[in-house]
Amino acid sequence: MSRKNNKSSFLSLLILVAIVAGALFVYFSSTFERVAPTIKLKNNGYWNLKKPLQLTITDNSGIKEYKVSLKRKSGLVEMAHEEPLTEDKSINIKLKPPRTAYTMKDKDIEIIVTVKDISKWNFLKGNSSTEVFKLHIDKRRPKLSIVANSYKISHGGAALVIFEASDENMDKLYIETNKKRKFKAEPFYKEGYYISLIAWPIRSSTFRANIVAKDKAGNVAETYIPLYLKSKDYRLSKITIKDKFLKGKIADLAEEFEETQGVFKPLEQFKIINEDVRAKNEALIHRLTSEVPKKMISNFKIKPMYPLRNGQVVAHFGDHRKYYYNGKFISEAYHLGLDLASHAMAPIITKNTGTVVFTDYNGLYGNNLIISHGLGLYTIYGHCSSIDVAVGDKVAANTKIANTGKTGYAMGDHLHFGVLVQGVEVRPQEWMDKQWIKLNITNIIKSAKKIINQE
Ligand SMILES: [Zn+2]
Repeated sequence: MSRKNNKSSFLSLLILVAIVAGALFVYFSSTFERVAPTIKLKNNGYWNLKKPLQLTITDNSGIKEYKVSLKRKSGLVEMAHEEPLTEDKSINIKLKPPRTAYTMKDKDIEIIVTVKDISKWNFLKGNSSTEVFKLHIDKRRPKLSIVANSYKISHGGAALVIFEASDENMDKLYIETNKKRKFKAEPFYKEGYYISLIAWPIRSSTFRANIVAKDKAGNVAETYIPLYLKSKDYRLSKITIKDKFLKGKIADLAEEFEETQGVFKPLEQFKIINEDVRAKNEALIHRLTSEVPKKMISNFKIKPMYPLRNGQVVAHFGDHRKYYYNGKFISEAYHLGLDLASHAMAPIITKNTGTVVFTDYNGLYGNNLIISHGLGLYTIYGHCSSIDVAVGDKVAANTKIANTGKTGYAMGDHLHFGVLVQGVEVRPQEWMDKQWIKLNITNIIKSAKKIINQE
């Protein structure tokens, strides 16, 4: 081999290496990337031609051009055509409805999106993609109207509303109150009609409720429920905590709850039990009493509740209790049921049919029984000495379900009787009052059916 030959073969190797390196650079460089842009249109298959559509384009190199058109029966309408020439890897575009949207009669359209990236691949032409999105057009708001409702609602009380709601593409239907609390509705009597019990929580100073219907295309209808608001006087009581109480009941309870483990100061124990343990016990009750049946009902009958024969009221619903020790404010709580007492271990009777949803120990409530009566109405029984029924049991009207006791946070043998509407404690007095039930439940259902039958 000659020296000259050696040199030229070295040169060709060098050129080859340069070519390979160049090719590798092109192959791996982002300037020449070969991945087509991705196109995403936020949608659920429906559009009301009002709300802008959210389009997101993503590419590894950047975006050179995008074009969006709307395809309808009569042809294509351009919605956007831009050449941003940006190196941004992702851009968001708000697609406004075309000007012709108002007069458009089409029920089904297509949104066609074509995007080119800024890559120099493909002989400098770059990569491109096209996506087609099929959308169903729905410009109409849900139909919504009240059929019948309770005339008034009391602070801490309940009311009934029956309404008509329809939409081809109904998505959500609920009642929203001033505190953003949502109440569910249950199908009632005939298709398109709904019934709902609503409640004015004792901790809210005022009340307002709207029925809200939303369809899948984002159209919303809202109707205000006209209710006369009746205020109620709830008792504010100052309770002085005695050492005997701290060393007795509180010390006993503190031993039992995990929240008070390692806490030895009696006042601290009391505060934790009255606030943290109570909140946890109430949260469980609220969760268990929030469900509403989804099956259509054609009637809802309820008899006045009277769970304890010859029961004397020993504490009222809504009592606001403020606790003091040596004249100093320590803690507070709302009493969210009615305390009834007769003799020790007295039989507790349900006057209404129902399904048992809970029969367990629940902190301050002791042995706690919860029964669902349908329509999101529940009754709870606290401090029981024994419970006769099990979860899932269907109980008949006028059956004995438990015995009173003093389990949990109870000084003497009594029944803590609570009524809840979709997770909100309400005035038990209303559900023990024949006249209230007639005016607010029976008559409303009767008049609603009359109106529905005429329609
Ligand atoms: Zn009580």
